[in-house]
Amino acid sequence: MADITLDRLLGEDHGVNRRWVLRRRPAAKVRQEDLILVEGPISPPGSGEVLLRNLYLSLDPTNRLWMSDRAQYLPPVGIGEVMRGGTLGLVLDSRSDRFQPGDLVSAGDGGWQDYVTCSAERLGRVRQAPGLPLTAHLSIFGPTGLTAYFGLTDVGRPKSGETVVISAAAGAVGSIAGQIAKHIGCHVVGIAGGPEKCRWITEDLGFDVAIDYRAQDVAVELDRLCPHGVDVGFENVGGAVMNAVFDRLNVGGRMALCGMISAYNQEGPMPGPADFGRILMNRLTVQGFVVIDYLPRAKEALTYLGAMAREGQLKWKVDVVQGLDQAPDALDRLFRGDHDGKLLVQLPEMIA
Ligand code: NAP
Repeated sequence: MADITLDRLLGEDHGVNRRWVLRRRPAAKVRQEDLILVEGPISPPGSGEVLLRNLYLSLDPTNRLWMSDRAQYLPPVGIGEVMRGGTLGLVLDSRSDRFQPGDLVSAGDGGWQDYVTCSAERLGRVRQAPGLPLTAHLSIFGPTGLTAYFGLTDVGRPKSGETVVISAAAGAVGSIAGQIAKHIGCHVVGIAGGPEKCRWITEDLGFDVAIDYRAQDVAVELDRLCPHGVDVGFENVGGAVMNAVFDRLNVGGRMALCGMISAYNQEGPMPGPADFGRILMNRLTVQGFVVIDYLPRAKEALTYLGAMAREGQLKWKVDVVQGLDQAPDALDRLFRGDHDGKLLVQLPEMIA
């Protein structure tokens, strides 16, 4: 894949900002008509602000939550507001001492737009390591990697020899969490959709076994593959998959509740395990977490993941969609499992 020429972007004539604005709250799955692509002027930076050209936009299951008005960990995106989204950006203009034109930054809310003008305080510096593609900073060395690392090590707290079950195991977060669990010395079971994803996590990533939830009965397979029960569940999906894992948690077991994607396209409460009493009987810890709470500890995760990558013990994939106009349609691929790795949108046109 050709890389973006950053020098070319710095020298370009930047005329118009295209932005996806939320028109209405989606009824179920996100439709393109739920948003509208509008054009407007690019705002020059004020004091303490920078102007960014967004290079890559991260598409995340939580984008669907942000479009809804259900109670959540951040305020919902308002109707008429630019859609929230994490981006990797290039500083074009700066009225802050912290950044110069040409710097690369991560923006937690760069938004679904070509350009953003924002406070320098809201940006993190990105230092591109030699040989590492820019996309790594929105995947393995970005929020995805941090989610996997802290969710597993700080919330799940597996010990060597324990059995860890990971749902959406071939996804962006799950695939990294599983490799960290293997690195710790755990017996790792991945639940994923389809034979190719199951092959990838076992043969290429080193998971011990995989369950294809589309073709197999997850509960039956867990009984077969985890005869001594489950010590840690790293839960990305919710619903029936989560229940099957929960029902097999051992005494002292932990469930790191990372996500419940199977419920995001629905209204109302997200159902939990039917047998709540198991938490009491087996002295379980079921703990939700959100990666933004861990950002002050990012260095710890990046050091760990960087060492694993250098040792050749960490693999990841990115699935890059071309063009801001594709963002709403592409988001639904996360809900169909129709993507291969961390889903990103590349905003500037590629050059050959
Ligand atoms: P991802 O796993 O790359 O993509 C989502 C995957 O979810 C799909 O590939 C699909 O897996 C699976 N899926 C979707 N609907 C499903 C259903 N109804 N039943 C079973 N599986 C279903 O996405 P990601 O970005 O890594 O996110 C994974 C989870 O982590 C999400 O729940 C997300 O909200 C959560 N998350 C939480 C945090 C946090 O701070 N707590 C941060 C990032 C992400 P298959 O392809 O195998 O079918």
